[in-house]
Order: sequence, then C-alpha cells, then structure tokens
Amino acid sequence: MADDPNIASKVIKNDPWYSSYAARAEQMRASEIRALFAVANRPEVVSLAGGMPYLGRMPFDKLADQLGDMLRSKGQVAWQYGSAQGDPHLREDVLPIMELEGIKDVQPDDVVIVNGSQSGLDLITRIMCDPGDVVLAEAPNYVGALGVFQSFQVDVVNVAMDGNGLIPEALEETILEQRRQGKAVKFLYTVPNFHNPAGATMSVERRPRIIEIARKYHVLIVEDNPYGLLAFDGQTYPALRSYDSEGIVYLSSFSKIIAPGMRVAWMVAPPGIRQKLVLANESAILCPSNMSQMTITTYLDNFDWKSQINDYRGMYKERCDAMDEALKKYLPYCSWLKPKGGFYIWLKIPQGLNAKDMLPRAITAKVAYVSGTAFYDNGEGADHMRLSFCYPTPDRIREGIRRLSTVIENELAT
Ligand code: PMP
Repeated sequence: MADDPNIASKVIKNDPWYSSYAARAEQMRASEIRALFAVANRPEVVSLAGGMPYLGRMPFDKLADQLGDMLRSKGQVAWQYGSAQGDPHLREDVLPIMELEGIKDVQPDDVVIVNGSQSGLDLITRIMCDPGDVVLAEAPNYVGALGVFQSFQVDVVNVAMDGNGLIPEALEETILEQRRQGKAVKFLYTVPNFHNPAGATMSVERRPRIIEIARKYHVLIVEDNPYGLLAFDGQTYPALRSYDSEGIVYLSSFSKIIAPGMRVAWMVAPPGIRQKLVLANESAILCPSNMSQMTITTYLDNFDWKSQINDYRGMYKERCDAMDEALKKYLPYCSWLKPKGGFYIWLKIPQGLNAKDMLPRAITAKVAYVSGTAFYDNGEGADHMRLSFCYPTPDRIREGIRRLSTVIENELAT
C-alpha cells in the first residue's frame, strides 16, 4: 500500500497467471476505500473517507526515549521470533483494558495476539468456514470483514439493524430461514459499539437477548470491538463477552485507542477455538511481531493510557459535533443518526441520488467520502455515504460538508 495505494484496483492486462488463480482469489475485490486512498489524500481534498485515527497529540518525543531504553535493554528479544499466541506481558496488559467493558474472567492464557483485528477476522473465518457456509452480519457491514468473508467464499447474510443495533427478532428469523434452506450458519459477526459504518450502538437491553438467541441455535458470536472505549460521554457498554464466555469470540485492537501502525490486536476465545486460532496464527505468520508488541507494552507501562483515551474521546466528540452541526446547517434535508462515539456518520442522501455515481464529482469539488455501496456485497447502499470525522480538524470538516452540499445541490438541480 505504501508504494501504490491503487495497485489493487488496477486492471493487469494479459496476466499470464490468470488461469492459475484459486477460486478464492476470484472473489477478491479492491475495496472502494483503498481505491479512493490516493486521491482522497491529496492535500487540497477534504477527506471524510478514511478511518485513520488522528495521532497529532501522541507523546512521540517521550515515547522515543522509552523505546530507546527498551531496545537497549531488551533488543535481543524485541528483534527475535516470539510466541504464536503472543507476548505474555502484553496478554497480561490487555486484561485491565477489557475490564473497563465488564470482561473480568479472562486469564492471559485465554488471549491470542494478532496482526490487527483484520488478521483476527481472517483467522476466525479460516478456522470456522468452508466455501458456501453462512456468516450473519449487520447490514451495512464493516468493509474489511466483507473482504475477508468474500475471500473465503462465505455467503454473507444480512441481519437488519436500527439505531439500537442488531434487531434480535430479525436475528432469530434469519437463523430460522437459513436453517430452512439447509445452510450452515457458522457465526454472527457484530460490531456492537459505534458501528462502522452505521454509527449505531447496540442497546444494553438487546445484548442479553442477542446472546440468548445465539445460544438457543448454537450460533457462535464474533464480537468486533475496536471503538468501545471511544464513547464521547465516557460511558462504556458491557461487552457481549461479559455475559458469556462459551459462545463468543471477542476481538479488540490498539488501532483506534493507541495507534494502528503497530498492527497489534487481541482475541479472546473459548479453549477449543483459541487453540485453533494459535495454530492458524502460526501457519499464517509464525508469530506476531515482538517489536510491535513490545512497543505497545512500553507505551502501556510508561504512559497514562486512560487519560490518553479520554483525550481522544474529547477530540473525536468535538469533531463529531462539528460534523453534526455542519450537516444541520448545509444538508438539513439529509438524514443521519448522531453517533455516541467512534469515527463515523452514516448519511442518507436525498432520494434519486446515487452516492457511488456522484463520487467523481465530489472529488472534483475537493471532498471525499465512501459510497454506501462499499458496505454491502449485493449492490445496495447507493442511497448512503459514510462520513468519517476522525482525522480532519473541525474547520476542515465544516469546509468538507459545505463542499459536499454544493455537490448534492448540483445533483438535485440536474
Ligand atoms: N473492525 C472494525 C469494525 C474496524 O473499523 C476496523 C478498522 N477500520 C478493524 C476491525 C480493523 O482494525 P485493525 O487495525 O486492528 O486491523
């Protein structure tokens, strides 16, 4: 990605290996977000497209000193191969983080460190799903998860969600319908907190009901929770994993609460699944990077990470408020749910407009977003766009929404 972010979306002409690819490679598509990356990152464009955390307030000077000390004292470990399950020190350090969301019964041995949640999603799908199996997921769906599911030739079946997250009745109906069709439902993939892209949070009332339904039909839940600590009011919601230790694979990541560059995330799974995850991690990457893991433990051990997360919350709240106010001012005829945390607003655009078709015109007007179609694998979503408020400053966000309103008004006029 560093050299040419658009490489995956280029058509390679006369590829001599075309007939040799596995069927699963056939399913691999460039994500609409990746294709946008290069253009959206031009300085003159206000990018409301990417989900990059803002790292401008990180204490890099002090961290550089700490990392220097770490390398001097533990360089031989940091630069060596490590354990496929992950560094025991880090597996211990993630326990108090999970406790903040009510997960109190986990031991370091229950944790597996992975190369970002993205890799965790790949591993769990690899060990649970054969081609043609069904994974249930909220619609719209996190685009990175869709990419994984497609690459394993899994059928993604959408379960309806609303402003309170996944709808329990819809979940039960969907499971029953899949069973009637003789399909193997392997797991429910859900992002309960500050959903990407929908912004919705699963209500506390719905959480035990969802778990009860999953238990009743013996459907595993994969709970993906990178944003849970980023509520604007500081509230935390009980993780699904806090209600149930046997039917849930829990994923969380340092990407949004510290920084994504280390590619460090973690999973908690029941013993049988955990063992398979470690084996799958080993066969995919041998072991997670010691250097990355020790960078994270150096940070956690030497800095007040809780107040850093509080600082992030305040910053993202200010940006979300700026976007919400600008939308009210410039695009009052669109509709959206103001999220209680996280990075995204899911904007419904006026009827008849198509967010995917409109995107080149938006880029010309120097504003970028992600078309809602990226978050479905069935062509739906053109009536929505995902707007990220995590990276640009409030002033840039206001300017971006103003530019977007001119594009939408031009579309409405033609
Ligand atoms: N899950 C969700 C819902 C996400 O939004 C993201 C990042 N955009 C990820 C997983 C991937 O995170 P990581 O950087 O840990 O791979």
